[in-house]
Amino acid sequence: MTTANPVYRGRFAPSPTGPLHFGSLVAATGSYLEARTRSGEWRLRMEDVDAPRCSTAAAGKILRVLEACGLEWDGEVVWQSQRTQAYAVALERLKAAGRVFPCACTRKELADSGIAPDGATIYPGTCRQGLPAGRPARAWRVAVGNTRVSFDDAVQGRIISDLASEAGDFIVLRADGLFAYQLAVVVDDAETGITHVVRGADLLASTPRQIFLQQCLGVPTPVYAHLPVAVNAAGEKLSKQTRAPPVECSRPGPELFAALEFLGQQPPLELSGVGVAELWTWAKANWQLARVPRGPALPGGGRNPSG
Ligand code: GLU
Repeated sequence: MTTANPVYRGRFAPSPTGPLHFGSLVAATGSYLEARTRSGEWRLRMEDVDAPRCSTAAAGKILRVLEACGLEWDGEVVWQSQRTQAYAVALERLKAAGRVFPCACTRKELADSGIAPDGATIYPGTCRQGLPAGRPARAWRVAVGNTRVSFDDAVQGRIISDLASEAGDFIVLRADGLFAYQLAVVVDDAETGITHVVRGADLLASTPRQIFLQQCLGVPTPVYAHLPVAVNAAGEKLSKQTRAPPVECSRPGPELFAALEFLGQQPPLELSGVGVAELWTWAKANWQLARVPRGPALPGGGRNPSG
C-alpha cells in the first residue's frame, strides 16, 4: 500500500451492506470535491470487515454507481476483508503496549449498561482488571481510562469528548472473531496515508474513539470534516434500514444535483437536467466547504422515490 506523504489524500469508505443511497452519495460527493479541489487524491475502500453483513454483489453495485456518477477514485480499491493480517498486527501492538484487555462478558450480562449516543454499549469495566475465574475471553477491549479527546472538525467545529462516559472501553476484536470497525478504519487510514477524512456526521461519535486508537498506535490523526447526514421525514438517517431508495445508475445527474444542493452549494437551476460531466465541471469550479450547512442532520432524500 502506498504511504508516500501527499499534501491531501482523502477517501470514501462505503460498507457494502446494501446499495448506495442518497446519504452515501452526499458523503462521496463532499469528500471527492474536497479532495479534487485541493489537488488531492481520492481513494476508495470497501468496508467489508463485518463480513456477515456485507455482500460482493452490493460492493459491485456500489462500484458501478460510483462509476456512473463520474466519481473516479485513485489507485486500487482496498478491501477490508483482505486486510485482517494488518488488523491482527495492530491488535498485537495494543496488547504489547498494555492498552487492551480480554473480556468475558456476554451481551446479556451487559444489557443494563449505559448506551453511547451511537448505540454502543458503555462498558461497566467488569473484566478491566482481569477475567473472572473460569471465564474464557470472548472479545478484546481497549481501556480508555480518563482520556478526553478534542479536535476541530472542519464543518462541525470543536468537538470535545470524554471517552469514559461517552464511549467506554470499546471493542477492538469482537466475540465472533471479527475485528471491530473502529480498529480497521484506524489501521487502514494510517496505512493508506489518509490526510483528510470527509464523511457523514453519523460517524461523529466514532471519531474520538478513532483518534484515541491513533494515539495508542502512534499513527497520525487526519483532519476531519463531518458532513450533515440526510434524514427522512421521521428524522431517520437514509439507509437500507429506513428503506431509502438506492441511487440509480440510469439517472445519476439529478441525484448528483440533489447532493450538491444538500451540501449547500446552490447549483444553478439550469444544471438540474444536465449530465454528470457538466455537473462536475461546475462543482469543481464552485465547491466551497464553508457553504456546507453545519449540524449533524438535515432533511433530504434526493429524488422522490415515486418520481
Ligand atoms: N463504512 C462506513 C459507512 O459506510 C464509513 C466509514 C468511514 O467513512 O470512516 O458508514
